Amino acid sequence: MNATPIFKKVALIGFGLIGGSIARGARAQRLAGEIVATARSAKTRARVAELGIVDRVEETNAEAVRDADLVILCIPVGACGPVAQEIAPHLKAGAIVSDVGSVKGAVVRDMAPHLPASAQFVPAHPVAGTEHSGPDSGFAELFINRWCILTPPQGTDPAAVDKLRAFWTGLGAKVEVMTADHHDMVLAITSHLPHLIAYTIVGTADELGQVTSSEVINFSAGGFRDFTRIAASDPTMWRDVFLANKDAVLEMLGTFNEDLSKLTRAIRRGDGDALFEHFTRTRAIRRGIVEIGQDSAAADFGRPLANLTKEPE
Ligand code: NAP
Repeated sequence: MNATPIFKKVALIGFGLIGGSIARGARAQRLAGEIVATARSAKTRARVAELGIVDRVEETNAEAVRDADLVILCIPVGACGPVAQEIAPHLKAGAIVSDVGSVKGAVVRDMAPHLPASAQFVPAHPVAGTEHSGPDSGFAELFINRWCILTPPQGTDPAAVDKLRAFWTGLGAKVEVMTADHHDMVLAITSHLPHLIAYTIVGTADELGQVTSSEVINFSAGGFRDFTRIAASDPTMWRDVFLANKDAVLEMLGTFNEDLSKLTRAIRRGDGDALFEHFTRTRAIRRGIVEIGQDSAAADFGRPLANLTKEPE
């Protein structure tokens, strides 16, 4: 736990899964002297006040950022530009302005032109999440042992980058710095394309005439279930991600379609060796992810093991 807070005042604009998790984590680790929050709707602001996680809930973005040393936009990517424009005149000189958007090039393009020269802009993307959203969905441990990628534009003060790095490290994250373009290319393949595939498969299953929807639900354990979890992610957030990272996603989709054609051909020709070689390679990638601690190898299948080992009553 931090003896001295890293920032005197942190302002969170938007309070859903990510904003709520930052607030809970920062409070638990005492990373800020004061945490204030605001959200677009009166309903969310009222709920945040009720939860009692932050020191103050402000009615407007302008009030929230006043005198803040760190301002984090925790809102959909498509909303970042207009909100940057709105808060710009109210920022304290020297304030660090950041965000948590899943796309970085578009956020830099939309926000940077509005921010005053006296502010330090350090965009960020915590690569951590769940399919849940809203003010109740956050939790303090969300970022532990997960990556947070910072993409400071050229000319950003390295001291501001270091301070934000310390904040995210305090939340439990591992921090990496890269360019916004590189971030968008990497995330297109590791996150955006998998979501697109999940949205497609679940939609396709839904439209299949020969398989009833109750069969899809009952027999979903065979791989489909994992896709349904991803396809339950927030529609607004993901609409914005695909609009904002269009070029990188289309490039990765081109490569994906070529690979899918190769596998289709192997199935059509009965080429078991090609299929076996491909599946062996992908299995090794999964093992690598488990080995570096980015996932657990434990099977869960949605059935708590405790029930199996419980003595009969
Ligand atoms: P969320 O739970 O849906 O919360 C979104 C927040 O943004 C809410 O407070 C909402 O306000 C506000 N908001 C929505 N539209 C807005 C607009 N047009 N203008 C101003 N505020 C608006 O979303 P989240 O999952 O925390 O995602 C927030 C950001 O984190 C997104 O940019 C996303 O790309 C990024 N991110 C998400 C994940 C993930 O897994 N979910 C992971 C990493 C990064 P109201 O409640 O008042 O409507």
